[in-house]
Amino acid sequence: MLKIIQKLAPISRKTCGTIRSASTGGFSINLSNEQRDIQELARKFTKDEITPKAAYHDRTGEFPYDIVKKAHAIGLMNSTLPQEYGGIGLSVFDACLVVEEMSFGCSGIQVAITSSGLAQSPVILAGNEQQKKKYLGRLAEEPLFAAFAVTEPGAGSDVNGVKTKAEKKGDEWVLNGQKMWITNGGIANWYFVLARTNPDPKAPASKAFTGFIVEADTPGVTPGRKELNMGQRCSDTRGITFEDVRVPKENVLLGEGAGFRVAMQTFDKTRSPVAAAAVGVASRALHEALNYSLQRKTFGVPIAQHQAVSTLLADMGIGVETARLMSRKAAWEEDNKNPNTAYYASIAKCYAADMANKVASDAVQVFGGCGFNSEYPVEKLMRDAKIYQIYEGWHMVKP
Ligand SMILES: Cc1cc2nc3c(=O)[nH]c(=O)nc-3n(C[C@H](O)[C@H](O)[C@H](O)COP(=O)(O)OP(=O)(O)OC[C@H]3O[C@@H](n4cnc5c(N)ncnc54)[C@H](O)[C@@H]3O)c2cc1C
Repeated sequence: MLKIIQKLAPISRKTCGTIRSASTGGFSINLSNEQRDIQELARKFTKDEITPKAAYHDRTGEFPYDIVKKAHAIGLMNSTLPQEYGGIGLSVFDACLVVEEMSFGCSGIQVAITSSGLAQSPVILAGNEQQKKKYLGRLAEEPLFAAFAVTEPGAGSDVNGVKTKAEKKGDEWVLNGQKMWITNGGIANWYFVLARTNPDPKAPASKAFTGFIVEADTPGVTPGRKELNMGQRCSDTRGITFEDVRVPKENVLLGEGAGFRVAMQTFDKTRSPVAAAAVGVASRALHEALNYSLQRKTFGVPIAQHQAVSTLLADMGIGVETARLMSRKAAWEEDNKNPNTAYYASIAKCYAADMANKVASDAVQVFGGCGFNSEYPVEKLMRDAKIYQIYEGWHMVKP
């Protein structure tokens, strides 16, 4: 591992100067040399650090702090964090390359490493200079976490239903409410919190909500127990209660009433990496199924030679390749600030999520009885894949 870090030192977060612009310009399905280097670094890191620990963290649900620290040390943790705040400022396209590789090893560990990006995005998009320096800079300095706290027990897909409220009192806002299913909920150093600031129930979503940066150690912030989820089990998912939490007015993002737009724009940036993560899971499922089908014999031949199995494998390959292309196209649209980014990001996320679920389920089928057993790798992939059809919103494709 040390060797690869030394070899690729030029793309570490301290020295990377050219990577950010690698995916701008005309659409190309050729990766540049820098992009190949990034991909190779992530692939090596995955092979050495993530894959060998995947089953352990899935079984125990233990958060992979050691792996996260190593990822942070070589610049793979906050990869889209801009260089001026200490990150390496990868494009969304290049971040997708990293995410897919890590997710191939274990999408739960990948979420542990990269999911702070969901909370960083509102600050990158809407934060002022002071907020960016303080809250992004902190994450670049140390392997700390941030969390995006929007969902509530009564409001998931329907973000307009958020009930957490913030009232202005002097130079502060006072937050009260409850969030649910928050990734990094118990380990975050700070949260992006969406709260209702206009009590008028008829106020349009575009004016009713405000985004706040909330320090996790503020009195009144109480994370709940770690949830025991079906997949990605080492990721830290929790509910959080906010009780009379005082937030200075300096921590409002963009301005009163701008929160809904900030939260929605965040998904434009984050849905293509989520699609790339789904591709990583599917690609691993295909890899495992293919290897197994060449070794396992029935009726005197490897099962890959039975047409029903080989057709399954071919369809898996079609799914992986097309979803990969779509996630990269969506990322490219975002990097080039094209106006229809939301449309492509939603298609990529929707398509890759459904594809990953089909491919993981088909991999279990190829493994037969062994596919249903936790001694083999594919049942985990099927459990891990399901979340892509749930989080980051349901699939709002805007024509
Ligand atoms: C492991 C995990 C991690 C998460 N991390 C975060 C996080 O970090 N931050 C955060 O804020 N949230 C997070 N979430 C929450 C996640 O984004 C929501 O669970 C998701 O948006 C769905 O909301 P819901 O659970 O309330 O389901 P509901 O909104 O109640 O939906 C239930 C079902 O109805 C469907 N549905 C709802 N409305 C419609 C419609 N109009 N048309 C068609 N179908 C519809 C949904 O697709 C779904 O199948 C996480 C969730 C999980 C499970």
